[in-house]
Amino acid sequence: MKFNTKLIHAGFDTDPSTGAVTVPIYQVSTYKQEAVGKHKGYEYSRTGNPTRAALEALIAELEGGVRGLGFASGLAALSTILMLFDAGNHIVIGDDVYGGTFRLQDKVFRRFGLEAAYVDTSVASNVMEAIRPNTKALLVETPTNPLLKVTDLAAMGQIAQDKGLLFVVDNTFMTPYWQRPLEHGADIVWHSATKYLGGHSDVVGGLAVVKDAALGERLAFLQNAAGGVPGPQDCFLLIRGIKTLAVRMKEHEANAGQLARWLGQHPRVAHVFYPGLPDHPGHSVHKRQAGGFGGMISFDVGSGERADQMLRRVKLFTLAESLGAVESLIEIPSRMTHGSIPEERRNQLGITDGLVRISVGIEDVDDLIADLDQAMRD
Ligand SMILES: *Cc1c(COP(=O)(O)O)cnc(C)c1O
Repeated sequence: MKFNTKLIHAGFDTDPSTGAVTVPIYQVSTYKQEAVGKHKGYEYSRTGNPTRAALEALIAELEGGVRGLGFASGLAALSTILMLFDAGNHIVIGDDVYGGTFRLQDKVFRRFGLEAAYVDTSVASNVMEAIRPNTKALLVETPTNPLLKVTDLAAMGQIAQDKGLLFVVDNTFMTPYWQRPLEHGADIVWHSATKYLGGHSDVVGGLAVVKDAALGERLAFLQNAAGGVPGPQDCFLLIRGIKTLAVRMKEHEANAGQLARWLGQHPRVAHVFYPGLPDHPGHSVHKRQAGGFGGMISFDVGSGERADQMLRRVKLFTLAESLGAVESLIEIPSRMTHGSIPEERRNQLGITDGLVRISVGIEDVDDLIADLDQAMRD
């Protein structure tokens, strides 16, 4: 099956008892057992639920893995992944990963003895230098958030293989429509399904897919043990969102490409961060490992005051956190999504007060350009 066909048909093949064409919302917590331990594959919905099972099978096929796992949010997925490690283990993490990823390790898992080094993974030698005898995993995101830095997945996969590390990739920005990290050596790929996979700003969810069945068993054990699972209604919404992933991702990207080029010419814009621009430092690596450039753009308008003015004036772009939905959103990372990163680190990373991030929706691009244009005028 080709990818676009999988989006519609993978994971579920008509309901056997009714012929329903889409997966029903199995709003149920427990299941009748014929005798103790004799059942139809479901005992209790934390452990397994048919609506969730359809979603898990779907994402596993899309990412090209052997097992998918559903979670209540992206960070519930990451929490469960981090529970694979023991106190005294060390992990290497990209230095401009999602703010909540940094916070989860630095403020929570560190208390349990999980150590971490944060490095710019777009330079492979940084990763090599950060590896210690107790390093167990390498966690990357590409392109990153909000600076759209690109990491070479195959190079990281090779390092992970040579050093015996678990290679974990946050694929939220690209989705399997554009990029499938398991094909480049990743062991686990995870998502905030809240973003492009859901796609409509109406559900919070997380997904993970593994390359290997034994690892899938370990993660499924933790999923059930920790219990950060999604409800059936949310799973249904995610399946429904994923059906239109191909048509949405193409539109996001077409709009983002036009907007990035327009912003690049704008006198008020000091710098545009978009991997689709030929002068982006990660352009060629990204092109090699992904089929498209996505819908996220960051740009620097020079100062916090100018960024504030823009946010006050935009009419079509909605001031909000999150990304990846059909409507265009705008935000200031230093004060919103990345506010949990200490100021000193933000400045080191280049997340300046004038940095504006947009999630380009699928509205008519002329309206989007007109809105940003009026918002940036003197
Ligand atoms: C939003 C986001 C997350 C966190 O996911 P939630 O669903 O909000 O828990 C993780 N990584 C990236 C890249 C994100 O954008």
